[in-house]
Order: sequence, then structure tokens, then C-alpha cells
Amino acid sequence: NYSRKYNNHLLMTDDRVSNRAELEKKYPVFLAAYDNYSSSLSRLVTISSKWIGDLFLRLLKMVTIPLIVSSLITGVAGLGGTGKLGSMFGKTLGYYFVTSVLAITTGIIMVNLIRPGIGATLPGTGEVTTFGENESLIGIFSGMVDNMIPPNPVAALANGDFLSIISFSILFGVFIVRSKEATRNTMTGFFNAFFDVIMGLTMFIIHLAPIGVLAFMTFATASQGIEIFGTLAWYMLTVFLALMVHALITMPLILKFIAKRSPVAYARALSPALMTAFSTASSNGTLPLTMTSVEQNAGISNRTSSFVLPLGATINMDGTALYEAVAVLFIAQATAGFELSLSTQIIVAITALLASIGAAGIPHAGLVMMAIVLQAVGLPLDAQGVIIAVDRVLDMCRTAINVWSDSCGCAVVEQLTANDEENTPSVVQSTPS
Ligand code: ASP
Repeated sequence: NYSRKYNNHLLMTDDRVSNRAELEKKYPVFLAAYDNYSSSLSRLVTISSKWIGDLFLRLLKMVTIPLIVSSLITGVAGLGGTGKLGSMFGKTLGYYFVTSVLAITTGIIMVNLIRPGIGATLPGTGEVTTFGENESLIGIFSGMVDNMIPPNPVAALANGDFLSIISFSILFGVFIVRSKEATRNTMTGFFNAFFDVIMGLTMFIIHLAPIGVLAFMTFATASQGIEIFGTLAWYMLTVFLALMVHALITMPLILKFIAKRSPVAYARALSPALMTAFSTASSNGTLPLTMTSVEQNAGISNRTSSFVLPLGATINMDGTALYEAVAVLFIAQATAGFELSLSTQIIVAITALLASIGAAGIPHAGLVMMAIVLQAVGLPLDAQGVIIAVDRVLDMCRTAINVWSDSCGCAVVEQLTANDEENTPSVVQSTPS
């Protein structure tokens, strides 16, 4: 009502009253009431959008630990049986490791060059606790190793100590593989079922993502003004450029010199899978298409693709690893206002690798796993809230890179095991393509 009256007065007095100072003199009561009304409205919008966004973050946090535990245990237990594949197994894991490390290094170099977070302020982030800036690399490393051996795994679960949880889950998975057949079957059956249920719940929460995104965008704009998107644009640009370097320079070099294939022809063969990965933001969802593209368009054997691709969709995520490193260093730059020491960046790199291994191939999984990296360097977990606002677009890009890396892995492993094939009988049945 006040607003209407105020606007009417503005219209009526347009020529005579040209600025706020004059309005204040002529209509002090109207103006004060209007200001009061609009500031309570904006406070209401800020508070309620923050609350809705936080509820969404709580839902994400709720599934993080069960997801890490079940995804790692089923992943490791699943790997066990494939040990028979011998050299293919080693080469595939070697490829995953090397390319993820290259991706993370590219991301770290790019974020140090562009420095998107320096001078930026992020809304809703609490105090930074520790950075370990003054600690030596050995000190930080031995601290990490200590954390990897939880004296009480149940306490680690309850406190959400990610490193402890990860190492215990991996060990648990390894010893499931080494147990006798009946135990192994029961445990794998149980954890597979557990993983399915948690994945179902996670997918349900992910469906609510548009509401969370909208809430965080509203909160960011209401509390920081539109400039926040300028800051986030630099961050997005950094992730995007680093992903492009990895996809268009690193991967083609690997394809050309190790897999001995034409990168352009290979990318063309894979284009249906890459486009699907981009639009769905899910490596798991794209898997059937990746397999058909790799086999039918690029002529890779089913023996290689049926081993490299499903495993890769779960544990080889170059795009996600790169994104974790860039996002966390961006948050660190913005919240701490300075650049991190080399030792802290190494911790970010190691934990980004772990987070990408633990991330499931579904939309926004990388965002959920970011908690691991943030916690490792003592950054506030709430910082994820700001990142959510622009996560979907980055998710589409990083998923396409995840799938591209898995597919290039097929070409590399196919080439490197070409001679073995003649000597070792194939364990996975080949289907003629
Ligand atoms: N969406 C990605 C994938 O499915 C995972 C991520 O969120 O980084 O590969």
C-alpha cells in the first residue's frame, strides 16, 4: 500500500521532485515507511532463502557418509574378482591414477594463475579453522596418515572424519575379497543392496537440487548483490579452462602417443556419449552409450571396454578431481584471502583424488564429496552453499570430461595389452561387434 502511494506521489511530483533528498523533505513519513517495508521484505527473502538452501545442504550431508562407505566397500570388493585379469588390471589402474593426477595438476596451476577467489567475499561462510600454513609437509603428511588409522571407526563415523572413514572402508572391502566364499557373498550382497538404497535416496535428494540452487542463488544475490556472480564467473571460467586443457591437450597427447590413435577421429566416434554425458551430468547414466560408442564406432574390443568403462565410471573421474581442487582452492582464496602454501595444495590434491574416487557417477556427486577436501584443509563446509548456485553447468562439463577420460582409457589399455592378448586367454567373454 505504501509502495503504491509512494509511486503515485513520484508520478504526480515527477517534475518537481527529482531526487531522494527532496522526497525526504516533502514526504518523510511515506519514505520512512516504504524503506522499512522494503528492508523487512528483503530480510525475509534473505532469511528464508538461506533456510531453504541450508535444508538442502543438510540433506546432501545426510547421505555423504553412507554413500562414501557403501560406494568404496562395493567398489573395492568388486575389484577383487577382477584381479584375475592381471596385467589389464594394473594398466587400467595406472592409467586412472596418472590421468587424474594430471587433471588435478592442471586445475591447481590454473587456479594459481587466474586466482579467481582473491579479493572475493563469499556469503554464509563461517570462520576458517586451520590451514596448516605453518606446518611442514612431513607434519601434515604424518597427520594425514594418523587420521587414516582410526582407533575407533565407529567414532570416526559419528564425527564424520572422512579420511578415517575412507581408509577403513577400503580395508574392509579388501578383507571382504579375502574372506571365504560364503562370507564374501553375504557381505557383497549386503553392501551392494545398501549401496542401491543409498543411491536411490541420493537420486531423490538430487531431484530437489533445482530448489536448493534457486534458494542459494536468491540468498547470494540478496546478501551480496549481483556482483557475487561476477566472482563466480571467474571461478567457473577457471574450472572450464582447466577442463579444456585436460580434454583438448593432455588427453589427445595420450591418445596420439600411447594409444596410437587419431584424437579427432576418436572424439568423433565418441561424440554421442560425450553429448549425453554433457546433457545428463551422469557418467553412470551415460555408460551404455559409452560402451556402444567405444565398441561400435571406435572398434575397441568388448574385453577391454567391459572392464575399463564400468570401473572407470565409478572410480576414474578426471573432471571431478580437477573441479574439486579448483573449487576448494577458490574457496580458500576467498575465505582466507591469501594463497595457500605448497604443502596445503598437495593435501588438496591428494584429497581431491580420494573425493573423485569416492564420487558416484550421478549429477552433483562431486559437490557432495567436496566435504572431504574442505575438511582436510580446515575450510568451512558451508562454503559449498555458494558453489551450489553454479554447480549444474560445471557438472555437465566435468561429466563429459569424466566420460572422455574413461573412453581414452579404453584405447590406451587396448593398445598396451595388445600383445598380452595373444599370450593370456581372455577372462571376460568377448562378443563380436
Ligand atoms: N556428475 C559427475 C559424473 O556423473 C560426478 C560429479 O558430480 O562430479 O560423472
